[in-house]
Formats: sequence, C-alpha cells, structure tokens
Amino acid sequence: MSRRAASVPDLVRGAREGDPRSVARLISLVEDRSPLLPEVMAALAPFTGAAQVVGLTGSPGVGKSTTTSALVTAWRREGKRVGVLAVDPSSPFSGGALLGDRIRMEDHALDREVFIRSMAARGHLGGLSWGTPQALRVLDAAGCDIVLVETVGVGQSEVEVAHLADTTLVLSAPGLGDGIQAAKAGLLEVGDVYVVNKADRPGADQVRRELRTMIAMADRPDDAWRPPIVKAVATTGEGADEVVAEVARHREFLEQDGRLEARRTRRAREEVEAIALAALRQEWDEARGDSDLDGLAASVAAGELDPWKAAETLRRSL
Ligand code: GDP
Repeated sequence: MSRRAASVPDLVRGAREGDPRSVARLISLVEDRSPLLPEVMAALAPFTGAAQVVGLTGSPGVGKSTTTSALVTAWRREGKRVGVLAVDPSSPFSGGALLGDRIRMEDHALDREVFIRSMAARGHLGGLSWGTPQALRVLDAAGCDIVLVETVGVGQSEVEVAHLADTTLVLSAPGLGDGIQAAKAGLLEVGDVYVVNKADRPGADQVRRELRTMIAMADRPDDAWRPPIVKAVATTGEGADEVVAEVARHREFLEQDGRLEARRTRRAREEVEAIALAALRQEWDEARGDSDLDGLAASVAAGELDPWKAAETLRRSL
C-alpha cells in the first residue's frame, strides 16, 4: 500500500486485520490532526469497546518503560494481543525513535501480536484528552485485548492518564521518596493497582507500608474496589504475572453493576468535549484574523479601555 493509495476504508480494514502499518498510519493521522479523522472514527466506532485500557503512571525513573516490557511479556504468555501507546505530552515530535529508547522494543519487535506506538501530544488542546482516546480507538479496533497507555516525559499528566483508563497502575519504587510523591501528585486517589517496583532494592517493604497506610486513609464506600499493592522487579519480570492477574481481577470487578459503562461514559464525555472545544478554538482562531484584537489590546494597555469591554467588543466582532 503506497501512502497515496491507502484510503480510509483500506486502512481501517488493514487495522482490523492486525496489519501493523495500517495501525501506525491511522495513529499518525490522529497525531497530525488529519481532516480524515471524522471518517476514520466513524469507521472504527463499531469495532471498539473490547480492549481493556490500562494506564501506567509514576514518577520518572520509577521503572515505567521496564515494567511495560515485563507486562507485555506476561500478557503475551496468556495469548493476549497487546497495544502499547506511549504518549509524550511535552514533545512536539512524533515517531518511533523516542519509543525505541524508552521501551525495550527488541523484546517484542518481531511479535505480530504486539503493537507499540508513541505519540506526541503537545499542542493538542486539552493535552492528552484530544488525541489519546482516538489513538486508543485504533488499537482497540485492531483487536488488542489490552492497551497500555504510558505517559513519558515530565508534566502534569500523571493523574490525567487515569482519566483515559479502565484500570490505572501506579508505580512507586524505593529511594525516590515515592509514597509521599504519590500523595502529593494525587495518585492515591486514582490507582486501581499499586506496584512497588525495584523490590530488589532496600526499602521496598517500607514503601509498601507507607502506601498501605495512605490508601487506607482514603474515604471509600464499602463496595468500592480495594487497590492491591504488588511488589515487582521489572528488570527480571518478577511480579509481572501478579500485576496481570490483578488487572484481570479489576476488570471483573468493573464488569459488575455497570461500573465499566459508567467509567467509559465519563471518559467519552471528556473525549467529546475535547473534540468540540478544539473545533470551537479553531473557529475562533480563524475568525480572529478579521478582528481588531491588536487595536483593542493597545487600548487596554494604554488604559483607554478596560479588558472586559475589549473582550465584549472582540466577541461581537466575530
Ligand atoms: P521510567 O523513567 O519510569 O520509564 O523508568 P525506566 O523503566 O527507564 O527505569 C529507570 C531505571 O531503573 C533503569 O535504569 C532501569 O533499568 C532501572 N530499573 C527498572 N526496574 C528496576 C527494578 O525492578 N530493579 C532495579 N534494580 N532497577 C530497575
């Protein structure tokens, strides 16, 4: 398939058949904010909803990419088809090079049942909320049983990733002051499974105790999920099976009493809102070209006009 010849129906068909190039091309369309996206998403919609979206979060250096690789290995042992989406909200650059550094690709590069993609999210209005759900839809429609979303780079996205996921894994490790950091970052409210990575290092039990105490302090209804804490060594794969089992247990939990639907509806709401807001923003940017924003700004700066009146004048002129 040449770049030109590949129509949306071709790409969608390719993705559903598990063709990695079609999957990659469709995710690139998301990244590039292609005008074809409405058509793509309409074609994909009937084939989505089966994948369990797993978010992975934790501070830099805690072992996220190493854990990703270990988890992919564990899921593959169970015969699952796995997608990995590494989102970098701080980078304007797309492409696989970044991910090649991050995830130990060589372990999975030849596996046709594993899709690994990175995506730059910078500049997208709404950060992760605009493009990431659409990229997830591509991997979902490609038949992935599990899609793992990891944010790379630093930023405020640690908690944001939880909004995208059915199940959120929060990683900690000894030596990073991580229990406290997790509390500060608001991660104690969003974790469904806590992983104390680097359990081969001293202090792992201490981190686990801290986490257990802090999680116990959170107000939870009686029928709420009790987040388990799993110790792991991502570099050897130790604990990965247990994490995978807890992720599956969480999915079963969500499937009771309409919890999964509720989570997904909340997520879809954010997705719809992000798309609508981006469209409004674009209309605004286009219209603004014809307005006298510079003139109004000069008057406000000179003290001749107050900002509210200026804003009202601007809105009326659009
Ligand atoms: P990320 O920034 O959160 O993605 O962290 P990485 O996966 O890149 O890991 C950061 C460093 O910690 C690397 O040097 C890893 O080899 C190392 N590391 C990851 N997991 C473990 C572990 O379980 N034990 C030990 N000792 N080192 C680990």
